[in-house]
Amino acid sequence: MWSPNNGCETTIIDMPIYQYKTTEKGCSCCRDGFEIMQSMKDKPLSCCPKCKGPVKKIPASVSGGVPTLSNSNLRDKGFTKLVKRGDGTYEKTT
Ligand SMILES: [Zn+2]
Repeated sequence: MWSPNNGCETTIIDMPIYQYKTTEKGCSCCRDGFEIMQSMKDKPLSCCPKCKGPVKKIPASVSGGVPTLSNSNLRDKGFTKLVKRGDGTYEKTT
């Protein structure tokens, strides 16, 4: 079995952080918005993970479309994910 500590056949995948905010009354979690890490391949959330109320993705407020966190920054902060492919290898998709 694969172990996260073996370090030889693994590839780290960076996880962008998305912001969501409720479009209705919401709960303490989504009323003021919340952040969640998702793979770019994941579907956007449509409801709050806590109260199941409808939420909307908040566009990143950066000028010129430049991310505020680089991939290396994200990795330093531990925002990483390992994704195993069907053929048993690990692939980085950013
Ligand atoms: Zn909520």
